[in-house]
Amino acid sequence: MIHLILFGPPGSGKGTQAVKLAEKYNLVHISTGDLFRHETSQKTELGLKALEFMSQGMLVPDEITIGMLKKKVKSLPDACGFIYDGFPRTIAQANALDHMLEENNESISILLSLDVPEEEIVKRILNRGISSGRPDDNDESIIRKRIQVYLQETAAVFEHYAVNRKSKSINGLGTIEEIFLRLCSHIDPLC
Ligand code: AMP
Repeated sequence: MIHLILFGPPGSGKGTQAVKLAEKYNLVHISTGDLFRHETSQKTELGLKALEFMSQGMLVPDEITIGMLKKKVKSLPDACGFIYDGFPRTIAQANALDHMLEENNESISILLSLDVPEEEIVKRILNRGISSGRPDDNDESIIRKRIQVYLQETAAVFEHYAVNRKSKSINGLGTIEEIFLRLCSHIDPLC
């Protein structure tokens, strides 16, 4: 079973590529950001708690995020594989994911990291904010905070999987199709 982590800073194109990859390889796409936004729109207790952090560009605490992710994966027993988009974002999340998979004799297949320079990210997110309606996409200081959090707390997850040679860097600049083909060239050998 394929367990693919689509990695990279906010605005690097993970969501766009995850949708295309999920279709091509018949994988379930799980975006923790989307799950939080759904909870927020439903005004659930979890959603309102998450919003306190999301609106400031901060990470939602591990406890909440890991619990939500596990619940989602367990609700999909018939899945042929998963794309994790926006998760794991901390070493604690990576360890929790590894342990959850280990319980089923599974492990992460590959981590593909989309590399995009900071100025391009800011431009892309502000542009996305025009149509996404996401408050965290409309404020440049929040966007820069999210990038800072990525560098301080999330980037280490790349190294966590690099130890087992599972982490790969992908050039995240170019057309959607060009980037998609780059990603596919790393996934095809796993199928
Ligand atoms: P995203 O849609 O992936 O950019 O996520 C939007 C926001 O949701 C982030 O800025 C965080 O506040 C929160 N979030 C999403 N995924 C995670 C995660 N794995 N851990 C903690 N917070 C998360």
